[in-house]
Amino acid sequence: MTDTGRQDYLDTPIEFLKGVGPKRAELLRKELDIHSFRDLLTFFPFRYIDRSRFYTIGEVRDQMPYVQIRGKISDVRLHGKHRTTRMTATLSDSTGQMELVWFRGFKWLKDRFKTGVEYIVFGKPALFGKRFNIAHPEVEPVTPGAISQDSAMHPVYNSTEKLGSMGLDSRGIAKLVKNLLPLVKDHLAETLPSGILSSLRLPSREEALFHIHFPADDRMLKRAIARLKFEELFFIQLNLLRHKLIRNEKSKSHIFPGLDEYFNGFYRKKLSFELTAAQKRVLKEIRGDTLSGKQMNRLLQGDVGSGKTVVAVMSMLMALDNGFQACLMAPTEILAFQHFESVTAMLSELGIRVGLLTGSTKQADRRKLLSDAADGSLHLLIGTHALLEDMVQFKALGMVVIDEQHRFGVAQRARLWSKGSMPPHVLVMTATPIPRTLAMTLYGDLDVSVIDELPPGRKPIRTMHQYDRSRLKVFGFIRQEIAKGRQVYVVYPLIRESEKLDLKDLNDGYESIVREFPPPGYAVSIVHGKMKPADKDYEMQRFVSGQTQIMVATTVIEVGIDVPNASVMVIESAERFGLSQLHQLRGRVGRGADQSFCILMSKDELSADARKRLGVMVETNDGFRIAETDLQLRGPGDLQGTQQSGILDLKIADLTKDEQVLKYARRQAMDLLKKDPGLSFREHRMVRRQLERLFPRQLFWSRIS
Ligand code: ADP
Ligand code: MG
Repeated sequence: MTDTGRQDYLDTPIEFLKGVGPKRAELLRKELDIHSFRDLLTFFPFRYIDRSRFYTIGEVRDQMPYVQIRGKISDVRLHGKHRTTRMTATLSDSTGQMELVWFRGFKWLKDRFKTGVEYIVFGKPALFGKRFNIAHPEVEPVTPGAISQDSAMHPVYNSTEKLGSMGLDSRGIAKLVKNLLPLVKDHLAETLPSGILSSLRLPSREEALFHIHFPADDRMLKRAIARLKFEELFFIQLNLLRHKLIRNEKSKSHIFPGLDEYFNGFYRKKLSFELTAAQKRVLKEIRGDTLSGKQMNRLLQGDVGSGKTVVAVMSMLMALDNGFQACLMAPTEILAFQHFESVTAMLSELGIRVGLLTGSTKQADRRKLLSDAADGSLHLLIGTHALLEDMVQFKALGMVVIDEQHRFGVAQRARLWSKGSMPPHVLVMTATPIPRTLAMTLYGDLDVSVIDELPPGRKPIRTMHQYDRSRLKVFGFIRQEIAKGRQVYVVYPLIRESEKLDLKDLNDGYESIVREFPPPGYAVSIVHGKMKPADKDYEMQRFVSGQTQIMVATTVIEVGIDVPNASVMVIESAERFGLSQLHQLRGRVGRGADQSFCILMSKDELSADARKRLGVMVETNDGFRIAETDLQLRGPGDLQGTQQSGILDLKIADLTKDEQVLKYARRQAMDLLKKDPGLSFREHRMVRRQLERLFPRQLFWSRIS
C-alpha cells in the first residue's frame, strides 16, 4: 500500500510550537482553523507592507494604505466622562502634525510615551475633519533594531479580535511563523518534478514557502506566489485527470452497437425540426462514447434554450434500442413533471413506457413503478432526488441523464452510477454556463460537450431595466403583449432568511396584478415552493395550456420550464438576484418565434454591484459572458452550486485571475500522466506522495500502473 499513514513532522499539533501553548492553540484552531505546523505554514499573508519606506506627515494623503512615520509624541490625553472612551496624542515631525487615537486598550499605554524620544508609528491614516489621524497605530521607539533590516516586505495576516486580545494580531502571527520556519526547514521536500521546476523556472518548495511569508524583495515574492499557485492547481488537476484515467482503464460500460426502431422512429416521425449542427455534433460524441466500451462521463453545457432536452432524449433512445433502460433526473418536481409530460408526448406513440417518480408519488404508484423498473418493463424513469433511493433498482440501466447538474452534489452523481452491476453511461447537463476555469476545476474529470448555437429563427430577447416608479408603463406593456396572444411571467425573489416576508411580497404582488388584470378578461396563475405539489401542478398546467395569461411565481420556475408562447419575463426586485439566476429566469422566454422581452424591475438606489449585474443583463444574452462577469463579481466560492465543493477552497490560486496558470497546470499534469500514468517512476515518488496526502480517500493506484 502507500505510506500516507506515516507521521509527518508538519502534522505536529500547533500547540507544540514555541509561543503557542494550549490556550492560544485552542484559539488558533477555533478562529483560523489552524491545527498543525502545516496549517500555519500554509496560512499565507493576504498582503505585504513595505516597512523600509518612511513617510513624512506632510506626505500623507487621503486613501493611503498603511504608512510608517518617524516622529515625536506629545500631548497624550484621555477623553470622556470617566476618561475611558478614548485617548489621543499628537505626532509631529519637521513637516507637520497629526493625531493618534485609541478607542480601547489604551490604559496601559498612556504612560509609556516619553517626550523628546523619537518613535516609529505605523498605521492607516484617515482624514478626520481637516486633519489626518491614525487609529490604533503600532508604536515603537526608534532603536537600531527597530528599523527593520531583514526583510523589507512585512507580511499581513488575517486575524480576529479574539486572537488579537491574546497577542495574536497580524504581528503576533508573523512571530509564530518566524519561530516555525527554521523548525520545518528540513521537512519541506520538493513535491513537483524537477523537469517542471526547471522548465517553468519555479523556485523550490522551501524557497517559496519562506518567501511567501518573509519575502526578500518583490521579485522573490512574485516567484513564490507563482510557484505556490501552480502547485495548488497542479495537484487538483493531477487528481482529476488521474481519476479520469483510472475510470477509462477500469470502468467498462455497456456497448450499444446498433440504433434501431426507437432512435430512428423518433428521428423520422417525431422530430418536428432539423437538429442544429451543434446538437448533431454532441449526439455524435455521445454515440462514440456508447460504442467505446468505456463508461461515458460527459458534461453537456448549453445555454438556456439551446435544445439540450432533445439531445438527452435521443441519448436515452440509444440505450433503449439496445435493450437497456434509462433514467432522467431533474432538480425540482415541477421540472421532472414537465420533462415527463414532454418526453411522454415524444415517445409514447413509439411504444415506449415512461414513468415519473418524485417525492410526492403515491405509494401504490410508487410500488408499481419500482417493480416495473426492476423487471425491465419500464423503459424510462424520470424523477427527482427520489431516484437516488436504494429502493429504486433497474433491470438493466444503460443511460443516466442528469439535468441542471449544478444542483446535485458529486456524491449524488456517484449514487446513480452505482445502480446496476455495470455502471451506466452518464450525461450531465447544465444550463448555467460555467466559466472555463471553474469548469476545469469542478468537472475536470469529465468530458465536455458544448451546444454553442441556438435553434434558428430565435430572436434575441430584448432586456430592459425599469425602476419601480415606472410600473404603470410596464403594466401597459404587458397588456399590449397579452392582447397579441402572448403570456407573461412575473417573478419575485425568494430569500431564505425571511420566507414569510418573501411570501408576503409574492402575495401582495399577486393581488396587485389581479387588480390590474381582473377577470373575466384575464386569468392569473400563482406558483411558489410552499404550495402542495398537486396545487402547483394544477396552476402550472393552466398556464402551460394557455388558460391563464400571467404566471406570478417565485424562482421555482427558474429551471427548465418550457412554455414557448410566454414572451415576457418581468423580474421584480431584480437587484436581489444573482446573475446566473437572472439569466436562467430570462431563458424562460424567447423560446418561440415571437420577439420576447425581459423587464428587470428595481428600486432607485442600487449598489455598484447590482448596477453592474443589471447592466450586463441589458447588454448581452451571452451566457458565457454573464458567467464570467458573475465569477468576477462574486468569486468562485459563491457561485451557484459550488458551495459544497471543497475543491474551491483554494489557499492561494484565484480562479477569477489565474486562468493561465490553471491551463499550464492542467497541461503539465496531462503530460506527466502520459509519461508515467501510475506515477511509479522514482523521480515521481514525491508527486505521488503529495497527491495521496492531499486526496487521501482516493487510493486507486495499485489498479492502474
Ligand atoms: P434547454 O437547453 O434550455 O433545456 P430545451 O431543450 O428546453 O432547451 O429547448 C428549448 C426549445 O427549443 C424547446 O421548445 C425545443 O423543442 C426547441 N428546440 C430544440 N432544438 C431545436 C431545433 N434544433 N430547432 C428548433 N427548435 C428546437
Ligand atoms: Mg432544459
